[in-house]
Amino acid sequence: MAQYDFDIGILGVGAAGLTVASGAAQFGAKTILIEKEKELGGDCLHFGCVPSKTLIRTANIYHLMKNAEKYGLPHTNLKPVDFQAIAERIQSVISAIQEHDSKERFCKLGARVEFGSAQFIDEHSVRLNGEMLSAKKWVIATGSSPFVPMIEGIDNTPYITNKELFSLKSLPKSMIAIGGGPISIEMAQAFNRLGTKVTVVELANQILGAEDKDMAENLMNILISEGITFYLGSMPLSTRDLGNEKEILIKNTEGKTIRLKAETILVAVGRKANLQDLGLEDISVERDKKGLKIDEKLRTNHKHIFVAGDTTGSYQFTHAAGYEGGIVLSNAILHLPRKADYTYLPWCTYTDPELASIGMNEKRAAAAGISYSVWTEEFRTNDRSLAEGEETGNIKLLLDEKEKPIGIQILGPTAGELINEWVAVMNGMIKLSTIASAVHPYPTLGEINKKVVGTFFSGKIFSEKVKWALKFFFNLKGRACGE
Ligand SMILES: Cc1cc2nc3c(=O)[nH]c(=O)nc-3n(C[C@H](O)[C@H](O)[C@H](O)COP(=O)(O)OP(=O)(O)OC[C@H]3O[C@@H](n4cnc5c(N)ncnc54)[C@H](O)[C@@H]3O)c2cc1C
Repeated sequence: MAQYDFDIGILGVGAAGLTVASGAAQFGAKTILIEKEKELGGDCLHFGCVPSKTLIRTANIYHLMKNAEKYGLPHTNLKPVDFQAIAERIQSVISAIQEHDSKERFCKLGARVEFGSAQFIDEHSVRLNGEMLSAKKWVIATGSSPFVPMIEGIDNTPYITNKELFSLKSLPKSMIAIGGGPISIEMAQAFNRLGTKVTVVELANQILGAEDKDMAENLMNILISEGITFYLGSMPLSTRDLGNEKEILIKNTEGKTIRLKAETILVAVGRKANLQDLGLEDISVERDKKGLKIDEKLRTNHKHIFVAGDTTGSYQFTHAAGYEGGIVLSNAILHLPRKADYTYLPWCTYTDPELASIGMNEKRAAAAGISYSVWTEEFRTNDRSLAEGEETGNIKLLLDEKEKPIGIQILGPTAGELINEWVAVMNGMIKLSTIASAVHPYPTLGEINKKVVGTFFSGKIFSEKVKWALKFFFNLKGRACGE
């Protein structure tokens, strides 16, 4: 039998790689982790979720301070923000989390960590810093990078991506965000709240293309009311460096060209998998239009080479990467066959209000040919929302023909937290009647989950038929006021 240096080798140490590594090492597999950058943790920690959510928190506090009068507080004349201080706070949060993702921690768990760029030289071996390392199984978890579209002049126009955004030396006076996806929209609101004049240019006719148009539009209208300008259905034609400012020429839906200028251009139009320089062509790893060709067990055409995280080209979220890491661990180390199933994969865009989703929305249900009914409830009918001054948004519950929940979208305060009840409901196949009868603490935002279910049941419970039966059996006398 072939002898390998390691039971499992992992290329890339972000959310996916860390999940596989910690599990594999703790199960007793001889594990090697190979990371290209100087530190572990990947994009989520250094240039993604962690810095963006830290920045959003700061921006939201500044926004609340600016709107103090709304809460019955005195008006305050605020100084402009010092972005270096914000960047320092971001860095301190990253550093605190970095300790959990350190080489030392993984060494304690039993995994060897190496830094550098490895290339496959055969199906089981890579070359790293002049050394040959072989493993029985390999995992490609090298993540993704910002995709930069081919726009005339872009190569000669300075622009930033999420890699530079969180360590800017000063707050840009103005910014054009190219792209209307979650990264762009979250950052557009945060920078706008901090004092940057933000313009968003999006090719499609709505922002957040995966979401239902009504929910995305409600959110966009809030962002417009805060001062962000949107150009939907607009294609960037060219960019130009004007020195202190950069220029973008766009063509809108009517075919009109518009000249936009800003101090900074943020490119956030999507992500491309980091698959270059891995030597994958040399060992004939097959590709398809999403990236690497993989089966439901996340295996490539070489059944011992797995893929997890953003490199799969599926759902580019940290929790998806963690989930896929678990699938790989199960298949590669435990030999318990598991397939990736994204039916109930939730996600959230962390704007204010947040927009969270699980399962089918109207768009996805229609595309799948599923008949559904929609039940909604507004946050302005939730007592806690009013007390918090956070009354914008709504919940949308989709039921199939058998009245089984197939999806929920929430646009509202802490929607990312509120969706968690539905994560349990959908995965646990809990009946709607259980949520309707379960006591939720008052006053909480979470009562909206119970209330939307109550809206669905109320038509059935307070029906003429039920009233008639109660009158017949118990002689109820009916209305005591008015007709
Ligand atoms: C601004 C922003 C905000 C985001 N916010 C959220 C959020 O709120 N919630 C959420 O769920 N997701 C969010 N994401 C997405 C999330 O960051 C990714 O889905 C997640 O990091 C993917 O994990 P991964 O392990 O696949 O890749 P990564 O975490 O990027 O890890 C890949 C690792 O591989 C390394 N690598 C690359 N090439 C090589 C090579 N050749 N050899 C060795 N190592 C290599 C990289 O340096 C990196 O460390 C955000 C992303 C961005 C950009």
